[in-house]
Amino acid sequence: MRTSEQSRSERRLEHLKRTAKAVGVKLTPQRLEIFQQLAGTEEHPDAETIFRAVQQRMPTVSLDTVYRTLWMLHDFGLVKTLGPHRSGVRFDANLERHHHYVCVRCGLVRDFESEDFNGLRVPDAVRRLGSVVDAQVEVRGLCESCQREQERAKKPHAKPGSNERSTP
Ligand SMILES: [Zn+2]
Ligand SMILES: [Zn+2]
Repeated sequence: MRTSEQSRSERRLEHLKRTAKAVGVKLTPQRLEIFQQLAGTEEHPDAETIFRAVQQRMPTVSLDTVYRTLWMLHDFGLVKTLGPHRSGVRFDANLERHHHYVCVRCGLVRDFESEDFNGLRVPDAVRRLGSVVDAQVEVRGLCESCQREQERAKKPHAKPGSNERSTP
């Protein structure tokens, strides 16, 4: 899986470089680092998370630069956002048609593909509200690790792998 993740972020980076060249945006080392941080993760991080990660390699980067860079990339269609545009908006470098699984407890977001969801028709009622740029399905639930935690909370003394019916 590791190699496919690597080639995916390389593909994203190639697309960024081509687009930046076409629109005349200068890719400074900071901008590249910020984009690569986002392109290399499936976490759909917010700007502050990207900032903290980039800061470890580039201590001079500022949160303001990260914000401005992300929104600039957004304006050029190089990244997408999730959720409403307010503080805490999360960014996504996956430009291919996809949908999201969101954990309601920990906020984990993962991409998934679905031909069925791609084929969904946007209702006319939506078109009356305004133009449609994009439509994604958001599936919400409890992720595997949150489910495990919930199970542990229910059975505080259960040992991993212990048989529930076992008695002394
Ligand atoms: Zn979770
Ligand atoms: Zn996504």
